[in-house]
Formats: sequence, C-alpha cells, structure tokens
Amino acid sequence: MPADSKTMYHFRKMLEELESKKGRGTELISVYIPPDFELAKVLQQLREEQGTAANIKSKSTRKNVQGALERIIQFLQAYMRTNKKPPKNGLAIFAGNVAGRDDYVDIQLYWIEPPEPVRVRMYRCDQQFVLDPLKEMLEVKETVGVVAIDGKEATIATVRGKNIDIERSLTSGVPSKHGKGGQSARRFERLREIAIHEYFKRVAEAMNSIFSNIPDLKAILVGGPGPTKEDFLKEELLHPNIREKIIGVIDTGYADEQGIKEIVNKAGEILGELEIMKEKNLMQKFLQELVIGSGLAVFGEEEVRKALEVGAVDRLLISEAYGETRAQLKCMGCGYEFEQRTKNFKIFQQQLPMKACPKCGEKKLTIVGAHDIVEEFLEMAEQKGSKVEFISTQTEEGKQLQLGFKGIAAILRFKPG
Ligand code: ZN
Repeated sequence: MPADSKTMYHFRKMLEELESKKGRGTELISVYIPPDFELAKVLQQLREEQGTAANIKSKSTRKNVQGALERIIQFLQAYMRTNKKPPKNGLAIFAGNVAGRDDYVDIQLYWIEPPEPVRVRMYRCDQQFVLDPLKEMLEVKETVGVVAIDGKEATIATVRGKNIDIERSLTSGVPSKHGKGGQSARRFERLREIAIHEYFKRVAEAMNSIFSNIPDLKAILVGGPGPTKEDFLKEELLHPNIREKIIGVIDTGYADEQGIKEIVNKAGEILGELEIMKEKNLMQKFLQELVIGSGLAVFGEEEVRKALEVGAVDRLLISEAYGETRAQLKCMGCGYEFEQRTKNFKIFQQQLPMKACPKCGEKKLTIVGAHDIVEEFLEMAEQKGSKVEFISTQTEEGKQLQLGFKGIAAILRFKPG
C-alpha cells in the first residue's frame, strides 16, 4: 500500500532536515531496525557501543557520541515500556550533536517510522546521518511488468521498486535448430515453427492474464538474448491494452530470473523517463486547458485555494520547489500581531531577534504560530478528494510551474462559481 502524499511530504521534509545536519567529528549516530528485529538486541548492541566509545581519543567527540547513545537508549527503553515489537515498518533513529559549532553542544534525537519497511539492520557513527535506505523510499515506485524470453524459456515478473516477484516460468519444449539433418529437415523445420508458435501463444496468454490483473501496471519491459523477443512481439499475440504498455525491448544474457534482474538494472533510466513523462503530461494538460481558456486551469495560491475549497480540483500540481511557512508574529513590546511569510523558516527564526517591530520599532518579536502552506493544501485536497501530484523541476514544464505559475496549479473538474 503506497503511502499518501501527505505522509510522503512530511517524510521528504524530515529527510531534508536530517541531511542538513553535520557533526563536528564522527559523532552522528544512525540506527536502523527492521520490523521483525528484537529490540532487546538493539539495546544490548548500543550498550556495547557505549563501552567502545570510551576509547575515542577526542574528548568532545567521545562526550558527544556517548551523549547520543544515551539518548537513543533512553528512547528505546521508553518505547519498550509500551511496545513489545518495533512498529509495522520498523524504526530509524538518529541522534547526535547537531549544533554545528564549537561553542556549545546540542544533542538531538529524531526517529521515524518509515513509509516502507526498513530492510537493513544498521548501526553507524559518522559525520552525517546515514539516509540512503530512507531516500530509496522516496523514489516513485510503480508496478512494472518484466518479461525475459528466449527460444528455451520465458520468465514473467512484476517489479515494484526493488522488489521482484517472479509470476511464472515457462519452458518452450521447442527442439533446438540443429536437431536433425537430411531428408526430414524441412518437415522438422515445419514442426519446429509450430512448436515455437505454440510456445509464444502460451507466453502471451500468461502475460495477458497476469498483467491484466494488475490495475496500476505502469509499463512492461521485454528482454532476452538473441532475436526471440522480437519474433515474439512480431506475432502480435498480446491484448492491445497489454501491448501498448510495452515501453522497451532490452538485450540480456539470460531468459530466467537472472535475465529479469538484468532488465530491471538496465531499466532504471527508462523508468525514470516514464515518471518524467507523467509529469510532463500533467503539465501539458494544464497548459492546454489554460490556452483554450476552458476555465479548468488555475494557478497561484489564491486561485488554487478558492478552487480547492469548493471541491473543484481534480489534480493539484505542486512544484517540489514550492513551499512557504506562514508565521504569526507578536511584538512583546507593543502587543502588535501580524503575519509574515518565509521560504526558509529556520533562517527566519534565527534572524528574528534582529528584526524590528513595524509598529514600535523594538526588536522584541516572537513567533506565536507557524503553518506550512504545502501542508495546508494537502489537507484541503484530502478533504475534497483531489489528487495531489508533486512536480519536479527537472523538466521544462516543471520549471514553468515553479517560475511561471508560482509553484502551484490545478486542473479542475468543473468551473467554480
Ligand atoms: Zn511593537
């Protein structure tokens, strides 16, 4: 079950924050716990690491590593008081001194139950947090059909992210080309052709039935050694709606599970392009509506908000570069309250003591409330059943959304009011 866009947005934000943290020394700790792993064992290992940390030469690094370990141990102990097992998807815990300067220490602990199961068991102490296992979960995961075929065998699989499921393996039973010679050669060749055709039919039937049962199947890749895969496709035995999903034909060394893996490895680029195509298509649909003046395309925060409120939004398009925080400020000098927007809330917070109140001029502003705008939009979309699509800035269209359409746009179901 893929996580919803709100969960993924929070997850992405959290990773951005963790990525920005740097240790002064090798003192940032990352712990990954798979769902079925025993927490008591993790605790035991962390205690051992505490012992090892006593040997760290640099006094400040030693203190920080020990401090971070202590925080993680306390967290786990508290967690274990109410839970016997890790959460459904496991846990990722990060702790360390994130002050990023020499004059003080700020040991923080972060923990995440990721949107997908943690697959690695890991303890790492480094200058950065180890985030790759989580970043992989950010990649868009579509279900893709993969077929490897040669004259001897065929393998049909479905792939989602890094998960490969072999759905079926078939053997051809076709005798090899150089089976017989002499007078019967023509007859043999004829029989061989029939056998190949029967084999292709079986493969096509299996593909038709397996792939038509996957409603969200994004694409199909066909591979294998030699010309068999092309011969197979030429016979046009596939349902038209299965056939139209084939987006690539790839040469591989094998037609078994190994061949499937080869196709998946080579397919990364093709699948990346597929995701980009999806973004491009959505943006083009938006632009088309805009150009013909149907009234079914709106952009900019205000217009999109209005359309969302009346439930008119079909697709909400948010640039990955879009994002602001609305901060409610209050002056502790004169009591004046006002709102300000910022792209980078962290820096805004840091600089606030230097800012003067627009009313009385005193530098006594304090934050009394803060709202992430993207989050507001995600919530509205959820309530009104609008689909949300985050659009990268990799494409021309994506850049257009970011720069030309203020980072946020929508394709509407109907014209509001
Ligand atoms: Zn004031």
